[in-house]
Amino acid sequence: MKCPYCGFTDSKVIDSRLNETSNITRRRRECLECSSRFTTFEKVEEIPLTVIKKNGEREPFSRTKLLEGILRALVKRQVSRERIEQIVDDIEGNLRNEFKYEVASIELGDQVLRALKEIDKVAYIRFASVYREFKDLEEFTQELKRLK
Ligand SMILES: [Zn+2]
Repeated sequence: MKCPYCGFTDSKVIDSRLNETSNITRRRRECLECSSRFTTFEKVEEIPLTVIKKNGEREPFSRTKLLEGILRALVKRQVSRERIEQIVDDIEGNLRNEFKYEVASIELGDQVLRALKEIDKVAYIRFASVYREFKDLEEFTQELKRLK
């Protein structure tokens, strides 16, 4: 980012604020050459991301839907909302960093499971039972054993 005063290309960020509704980050910078201060705005380019469902249907990726699924698994569990949002951020971030345009719902579910396994075993089992649609008690018991 070039300094608008002297053209120097290096600056340091002295303040950074994300406007959540517009998804724009406002950065206050200071030029390392002339110490002038200026502001830049960054917006993440949103690549439409498609989720391929088990039945082959496609639907747009929904952060809200992902969040709701995780919240359902975490009902009455001692996990902060902040931590849950973080999981969603991480998963969405991973997909965007890989520049994926399509993701299978199974892969998405596996990412959630991996995260839940780390933070809450009960939520993990709840999510897995919905997600993997355990066919019978046997399969469910197997999964429980695997966890131990
Ligand atoms: Zn400058």
